[in-house]
Amino acid sequence: MANRKHGKATKKCRLCASHDRVIRKYNLYICGRCFREVAINLGFKKYN
Ligand SMILES: [Zn+2]
Repeated sequence: MANRKHGKATKKCRLCASHDRVIRKYNLYICGRCFREVAINLGFKKYN
């Protein structure tokens, strides 16, 4: 694998760098909080 920067396999939000509930759905890689905002922008109003 070419993706091993820090040894840890932790995924973090690419928007706020949080590791809290990072969602990989749709290849977004963002946390739940940011996902809500992005989801609204994308039109996913059904989330939560
Ligand atoms: Zn975030």
